[in-house]
Amino acid sequence: MRFGVHVGIGGNFPIKTIEQARAAGCECIQIFAGNPRGWRRTPYDARAWQEFKTLRKQHGIFPVLIHSSYLVNLTTTNRTLHANSSMLVAHDLEVAARGGIEFVNTHLGSYGEQTRTAGIKRVSATISKLIRVAKPGPMLLLENSAGAGNLCGGTMEELGEILRTVGDKRVGVCLDTAHAWASGYDVHDEKGVDAFMSAVRKHIGLKRVRALHLNDTKVDLGAKRDLHWHLAQGRIGTTGFRALLRRPELAHVAAICETPKSVEEDRMNLRAARRLAGVTRSKPKA
Ligand SMILES: [Zn+2]
Ligand SMILES: [Zn+2]
Repeated sequence: MRFGVHVGIGGNFPIKTIEQARAAGCECIQIFAGNPRGWRRTPYDARAWQEFKTLRKQHGIFPVLIHSSYLVNLTTTNRTLHANSSMLVAHDLEVAARGGIEFVNTHLGSYGEQTRTAGIKRVSATISKLIRVAKPGPMLLLENSAGAGNLCGGTMEELGEILRTVGDKRVGVCLDTAHAWASGYDVHDEKGVDAFMSAVRKHIGLKRVRALHLNDTKVDLGAKRDLHWHLAQGRIGTTGFRALLRRPELAHVAAICETPKSVEEDRMNLRAARRLAGVTRSKPKA
């Protein structure tokens, strides 16, 4: 398992981004490819992304995930919102393909007034199309939601159904631990992690899991609220993360903290993650 945090791209990209990643002690990172709360995207800056690629290689930072905008709703029946959302994810896939970035991670959005069956059909068709027209290279990861309201993808069953409907090897999942807890997976101890992993294996398949969002949370189990907290300092706690991070079936994934941030806090969370996983930091490649 490789560990990292979400790092910013604002100001002096990519030099500052890589500096931040190194200061925090990242082996892998997640970034946004534009304003995560806006629709506008700037044209592809070939020079900057090439430099990013060079610096990543130099410092052994891989893989990289682009987290798509929070506005994205690939499930909605609102045509404008659906078209804009598809465009944003297509943009991120394009940046990833051109910039040699391994993954784009996206939320699925909300069913709204549709039935679940209609929503799954719609979101699956949207994802199929996005990946079919995307340039070769990046894989699209679907993130589990906290399950609030009519949010799509709150259960492993639902994500599995979407993956099977899409049926494309370039689509995988990113599992957010805080979202899993909020949607009712009791991952705070060995037994709970066992049950969660069984659900993952049964509905998704371990090979499809490419990333974890390592977030603890203070909300109640099944509260359907999306609030992140420092690793091992919330309800999932030391026992939950230790059990999860030591699963050999997850050894291949990139684990990214999206916890409250400062360089010190990032370092603290990564230290906790590695300690609980029982690993020391892998040596960056020269
Ligand atoms: Zn997310
Ligand atoms: Zn979240």
